[in-house]
Amino acid sequence: MTFPHKIYDNYSLLQKNTLGLPSTARYYAEVGSVTELRCALAFAREKHLPVIPLGGGSNVVFGEFLDALVVHVNLKGKAVLSRDRDCVRVRAEAGENWHELVLWSLENKAYGLENLSLIPGTVGAAPIQNIGAYGVELKDSFVSLEAMSLESGLVEYFDRQSCDFGYRDSVFKREKRDQYVIVSVTLDLDATLKPNLGYGQLGDLLARRLGNQAPSAVDISQAVCDIRREKLPDPSEVGNAGSFFKNPEVSQLTMDRLKQEYPNIVAYQIGRNWKLAAGWLIDQAGLKGERKGRVGTYQKQALVLVNHGGATGQDVLSFSSMIQRKVNEMFGIRLEREPRLYMDDIGKIPRHRSRDQDNQDAI
Ligand code: FAD
Ligand code: NAP
Repeated sequence: MTFPHKIYDNYSLLQKNTLGLPSTARYYAEVGSVTELRCALAFAREKHLPVIPLGGGSNVVFGEFLDALVVHVNLKGKAVLSRDRDCVRVRAEAGENWHELVLWSLENKAYGLENLSLIPGTVGAAPIQNIGAYGVELKDSFVSLEAMSLESGLVEYFDRQSCDFGYRDSVFKREKRDQYVIVSVTLDLDATLKPNLGYGQLGDLLARRLGNQAPSAVDISQAVCDIRREKLPDPSEVGNAGSFFKNPEVSQLTMDRLKQEYPNIVAYQIGRNWKLAAGWLIDQAGLKGERKGRVGTYQKQALVLVNHGGATGQDVLSFSSMIQRKVNEMFGIRLEREPRLYMDDIGKIPRHRSRDQDNQDAI
């Protein structure tokens, strides 16, 4: 088989992950079309290697050597598919930058993504953890996606139901993990702005800026960007992967216990359960701004782990385990990591066999 685009071996991923971790991929390919993607997957099948799809690298922790084919998904294109009085349907290819899609949607008078401004990464990764911020999630506007099966090389269609989105979660983190490369996403956006300002800090900032005047979508987007720039480290300056842990969800019973001991605990009711602010738990455990060697928590937001320079994936992993242990000791709560770890578990990623290998076995 011939591979029309370049596949690099022993490729450094240092510039390809926002934590800035040193890592080498055994093979690396950048794909700009479905055909190139199919060829890259065939290459991995032939070499009997696992495939790791990569977007902006803003939600991954890499070990020092990845015995895999890392496929940088770089399919480009975005379009308005239809528009009526209520709804603007848009489609974007997986390699588009998420924040640029948000800005483009606003230019096209299509609303609903403004609270998701400035989230790093690509469109194709957005459904993986159902990205969310300031009270809005991808699933609120999601219609469908197309994804190539690593097994068959065929492009399959997933509607909202089959993605089974949850809080920073989807079927692609569970039952269908490591089985697909997302190639495009279709969203239904609003033709008129329906501001979602329920998130305290956002509403407050806009009220200070605009008084009683109703905010435009651009006002909201700019406010979100300003709050984020103020509070979060810019990965181009300080290596980080955003929130390192998910906010844990606990039962009413656990909440009652915690509230008795910690009356100021920061928590939000969701249905019958409570969502605890993981950043607050870490802060209370005395770990805000903590540093161990080359890794630490960010001064302004304890939920963000930062690479102070020269850290490895193992350093990050050890530091995060220490946080999990201390929070568990203090509150009896187990924090779950949010970014995907590609460390020693790479061997567990399924490898797909080429037809030639199957035929050889059959002889
Ligand atoms: P990558 O890091 O490249 O990949 C993440 C995972 O998705 C990997 O397992 C990868 O294999 C898989 N993947 C990537 N592309 C594809 C594809 N096309 N098909 C199949 N699998 C794929 N997240 C939020 O939800 N809300 C936030 O507000 C937020 N803020 C952040 C702020 C900062 C400063 C940073 C650094 C991160 C933040 N994040 C946030 C996390 C991150 O931006 C999102 O998870 C984002 O969607 C990751 O996109 P990516 O392209 O960088 O994915
Ligand atoms: P924050 O405003 O300091 O709030 C702390 C936590 O409390 C957040 O994680 C948020 O949960 C929750 N919260 C705050 N106000 C809430 C409300 N009115 N209703 C329900 N929950 C509320 O958080 P932050 O760190 O500055 O982040 C702001 C937003 O950007 C959050 O939505 C956060 O998830 C998102 N963000 C995500 C990442 C990431 O990597 N995943 C990184 C940076 C920021 P939620 O997280 O559930 O919203």
